[in-house]
Amino acid sequence: MMWAEEVISNGIIPWLTPLGVYIHIPFCQHHCHYCDFAVTVGQDDLISAYLDALTIEITKLGRITPVQTIFIGGGTPSYLPPKELERLLRVINHWLPAPEGVPREFSIEATPESLTLEKIDMLYQQGVTRISLGVQTFNEKFLPVLDRIHRPNHIFPVLEQLRRYPLQISLDLMFGLPGQTTADWEKDLHQALQQGTHHLSTYGLTYEKGTPLWKKWKKGDVIACSEEEELEMYKQAILILQSANWDHYEISNFAKGNTRCRHNELYWANYAYYGFGVGAASYVEGNRQMNKRNSADYIQTIMSGDSAIFQSEKLSDYDRAWETIAIQLRRCEGINAITFAHQTGFSLAELIGKVLESLEKLNLVQVTDQKIALTEQGKPLADSIIAQIMKEQKEKY
Ligand code: SF4
Repeated sequence: MMWAEEVISNGIIPWLTPLGVYIHIPFCQHHCHYCDFAVTVGQDDLISAYLDALTIEITKLGRITPVQTIFIGGGTPSYLPPKELERLLRVINHWLPAPEGVPREFSIEATPESLTLEKIDMLYQQGVTRISLGVQTFNEKFLPVLDRIHRPNHIFPVLEQLRRYPLQISLDLMFGLPGQTTADWEKDLHQALQQGTHHLSTYGLTYEKGTPLWKKWKKGDVIACSEEEELEMYKQAILILQSANWDHYEISNFAKGNTRCRHNELYWANYAYYGFGVGAASYVEGNRQMNKRNSADYIQTIMSGDSAIFQSEKLSDYDRAWETIAIQLRRCEGINAITFAHQTGFSLAELIGKVLESLEKLNLVQVTDQKIALTEQGKPLADSIIAQIMKEQKEKY
């Protein structure tokens, strides 16, 4: 991530001082049955008070704070009524402007059915540079399987409108859906390539415990894709996107040309960031903090002058080093040994040299003097490889 390295050379330490901000908008029109995010449905009467509380939380920074990346996630930020959306963007632009002479990446998540032309135009006028659209699949058959409320007739017109603006378009796509074949998935990927997309995030469907989808799966009402099918689909995505010269830069993320999501690159480097809103996490000066997850509670707490943080943890340097390994290994460029030592104060070889040897023999990681990275064979097994490496931490101490 060259841009952050330039920051280091300017004297800012990006793992301590946030370069980016995450802002959470919890409201959704409907609660999709696979989703376990902090969402608020059927309480639109809270929107205005929520934005009041969010503004107070941001202003608690105490000063105008220039940042290089902003990510408004949800929930469904594009579900906000136009007036409220504009209010939010104005607050952000006032308190969190671009640093002088530095372009600011400004992303917002949206759903196809809620993103109107009026909102697109406003987002663009207010400095948004990147739209992350939750398409999930272009296939009419699988959108109801996911319990999504949009349909292809929402997706295509909104993409057509987005292409009229100089905005980066990122799509979320899901694979491993019940009943989905590799041919269906291949079709989704090609559709995405044909739609002027700049960036793709591809995720396998997970059955999160307690969600309605998980309950249906447990009862046998939904038949999940096999692990083999899911693995095949993941490999298919890599093959198709790399053949189209896309940059596979994180386990699940692909970019066309120079369109990596810089904000997410901060997370994957284990760098610092601010987080505002219900359920938002922040990581500042080595402190991890988490806000309350209930919107009404969040609003009430902030309005009564208290902090919405309900969990706070200061990581030891040692734990931070291990966490950095687990996070940075998800990047296709892997972990740079010199930067790692500078960032954590630990030597990569000393911490994980032994486990790397065995993983290297299995051709799951590639190890050089400068870096370690997952091989093509290792990428689909990233979670279990990282779990194996992290086991070393427990065994060592
Ligand atoms: S729109 Fe997104 S955030 Fe909202 S319920 Fe559906 S999956 Fe969850």
